[in-house]
Amino acid sequence: MRFYSTRDKNSLHSLKEAAVMGLAPDGGLFMPEYVPQVNLLETLMLAQCSFAEMSSYLASLFFKESITQMEVAEAISDALSFDVPLVKAGPCYTLELFHGPTCAFKDVGASSMGQILGKLIRNGQQEHDKPLIILTATSGDTGSAVARGFYDIPGIKVVVLFPNGKVSPLQECQMTALGKNIKAIKVNGTFDDCQMLVKAIFNNKELRKQINVTSANSINLLRWLPQSFYYFYAYAQWLAAEHQQLLKSYLNGENIDLPEVTFVVPSGNYGNISAGMLAKRMGLPVKGFVAAANSNDVFPKYLESGKYEPRPSVQTIANAMDVGAPSNFERIQSLFNNDYDAICKEVKGYAYSDSQIKEAILELHKEYGYTCCPHSATGYLATKEYLQECAGLGKECSANSIIWLSTASPAKFSEVIAPVTGQMPHIPGRLQELLNKEKEFAVMDVSTDALVEILKTHGE
Ligand SMILES: *Cc1c(COP(=O)(O)O)cnc(C)c1O
Repeated sequence: MRFYSTRDKNSLHSLKEAAVMGLAPDGGLFMPEYVPQVNLLETLMLAQCSFAEMSSYLASLFFKESITQMEVAEAISDALSFDVPLVKAGPCYTLELFHGPTCAFKDVGASSMGQILGKLIRNGQQEHDKPLIILTATSGDTGSAVARGFYDIPGIKVVVLFPNGKVSPLQECQMTALGKNIKAIKVNGTFDDCQMLVKAIFNNKELRKQINVTSANSINLLRWLPQSFYYFYAYAQWLAAEHQQLLKSYLNGENIDLPEVTFVVPSGNYGNISAGMLAKRMGLPVKGFVAAANSNDVFPKYLESGKYEPRPSVQTIANAMDVGAPSNFERIQSLFNNDYDAICKEVKGYAYSDSQIKEAILELHKEYGYTCCPHSATGYLATKEYLQECAGLGKECSANSIIWLSTASPAKFSEVIAPVTGQMPHIPGRLQELLNKEKEFAVMDVSTDALVEILKTHGE
């Protein structure tokens, strides 16, 4: 399997090239040459074992020509050795994607990328090769997940940029407390500034001849693609919960049309939701998607007007979604062949203010005893709005056939949640440990030159 650029279907690259380049030479994002069709029966059977087992099978459909099937299995079982449970929260199901090492859904993509890229690099490595530098910009969660996903992987170093003062204290600890091959940099600017700096490096062909550097943002194919796996896992659990008899018969080989679900996805850079769209194309029975945004509502506005108008991000309490120009919009367009009407048929989008998000956190806490993070709360709000809209249109739609994705642990956002609910969220042990560790970081203005210096020093 090779990978094409969203800007040129004829520009095909190997997995390693796509992973190491990050962005295609023409500035586009990489996509799989074709969408492999899953054996749904096999997938659902493997899901009965574990998330990792099921994911190894799905990963092999894309990667087995680039690394051995054994290596795929090793990489995925190292990367995805945590659970992704579907739980009932209030009237709907939510898929908790935050039980990985840094308590955020980005662990899925970042850890998979770390392990698979590690294998791809080792396969062709010479003794005196310079390390590969992973350069990444983060509005909070990406950086910690990437730092952790690549932590201590031989032959790879990480430089992570984040907006000074705009990530939560715990997120900051997760990037600055690792050390070893991880370098954390506070940028005096916004997340968009950080992302702009990263793009400036990647678009500079001369520089890239000197520095062995790649990205690990959600634009990187190896981070993006494995995010399609948990949609299958969610579906398997949903069938078991809602349609147990049907699942049994299906697993026994009966020929049955499986029911469809709707996924509601808290969205910022639109990597998560576009990976779900890929899962649907691989054969997962999905009715459609709902994008839940904070005040950065470029995508919902696009669905309304047909006009895509990126603009500077605004700061919200769901800060990992503070993105004014979602990179993965290109992937969505590519998946739909730029057909606006087709996108509108399959995707809805809603946006929420900070005060609405706080109300949702309170409602879930008070009415249902469920504590959720501000990002996930947009998913809850969008689930309710979608149900209302369906009812208003006289369309049949039950709360039981909707799964909203919970993207981070409430523990990471206690400074938002505690004042709303009056209770500190429980902090898992693996986060608590980080708070007491020594911190290491550099501070930088928005300057490409300064970043180049850092990359040259760190890459030796
Ligand atoms: C990154 C992130 C999002 C947004 O995901 P995208 O793939 O960028 O749309 C939502 N919630 C949390 C907690 C995140 O870290």
